[in-house]
Amino acid sequence: MKTLLSVVGARPQFIKAAPLSRALRTRSNLREVLVHTGQHFDASMSDVFFEELGLAKPDHHLGIHGGTHGAMTGRMIVALEDLALSVKPDAFVIYGDTNSTLAAAVVAAKLFVPIAHVEAGLRSFMPIPEEINRLMADRVSRWLFCPTDAAVKNLAAEGIRKGVHCVGDVMYDTTIMMTDRAREQSTILGTLGLQSGGYDLATIHRAENTDTRDALAAVVTYLTDAARDVPVLLPLHPRTRQAAERFGIDLSRLRIIDPVGYLDMTALLANCRRVLTDSGGLQKEAYFHRKPCVTLRDATEWIETVETGWNRLWRGPDYRPRRDNQAYGDGRAAERIADILAAEV
Ligand code: UDP
Repeated sequence: MKTLLSVVGARPQFIKAAPLSRALRTRSNLREVLVHTGQHFDASMSDVFFEELGLAKPDHHLGIHGGTHGAMTGRMIVALEDLALSVKPDAFVIYGDTNSTLAAAVVAAKLFVPIAHVEAGLRSFMPIPEEINRLMADRVSRWLFCPTDAAVKNLAAEGIRKGVHCVGDVMYDTTIMMTDRAREQSTILGTLGLQSGGYDLATIHRAENTDTRDALAAVVTYLTDAARDVPVLLPLHPRTRQAAERFGIDLSRLRIIDPVGYLDMTALLANCRRVLTDSGGLQKEAYFHRKPCVTLRDATEWIETVETGWNRLWRGPDYRPRRDNQAYGDGRAAERIADILAAEV
């Protein structure tokens, strides 16, 4: 029996871990120990995803959140190292590009425990915190599970070829798992009095859009202009709420709600007119639900969505001609990863 220490901490990681955790737990030679760092911790950013996605209760909760990048990552490194010394895992499983990803990568690499990085190889070629976390995590990983061919090429360009597997996108697995359930169970449209096709769905949370008054004001102005046409619904990330309060930015012409769980988000995606977002995950989910997207950034890691005409950058050229996008696999990415880890750990 081999022990995997899976580390999650932020909302997108719960969504990515759900199908893989489920798949790993069906492999008889693997035992998963799930750690929640605490990076996102409240009911609407954390608990609801565990409940709705059927993710097992974490075996360990480190309760670490807030502070600067260095303070948060440093505290996670100390706590994860302690935990790893007692659990003695045969491998770490890490997800995406957050401070939790980076902390786990540093701990595992220094203890010589092999790392499986889920969503490896993504690059925006911008000096943003997520990019730094991805570069570091990919550099020390043994298994690099790429969602797309573009991600494989990015790694090859950095000289990383060993252990690279193009498995498809685990978030597509999650979308397939949840779309029918959302249609049956979510009542959010009625609760908010929204009509199908009668609103745009927006999210903002990236540091590049929330760290300065000018940046946040520019995004809010863009959304407010869009809201002349149809209401723009903005489930507000806690970081963005704090920034808007701190900078005195008026959000009153947008339809603001608290962050929603995955079932409600899926229903909102399936029924919106279009998506306006700086989120990585949401750009793809827009495509999964065949909704056009405007990315509120000057770069995207998910270039296939732009190439196939479903997505554009807000300050970039117009949509390209629209076509089908086969880039994200067949909804069995998690099964492929579990097969490889069951055979190789
Ligand atoms: N999401 C959600 N509720 C919300 C906002 C986002 O369930 O109120 C989901 C969204 O559908 C996507 C994920 O959270 O699956 C994206 O997370 P986030 O934007 O925090 O991170 P990123 O994708 O940029 O890493």
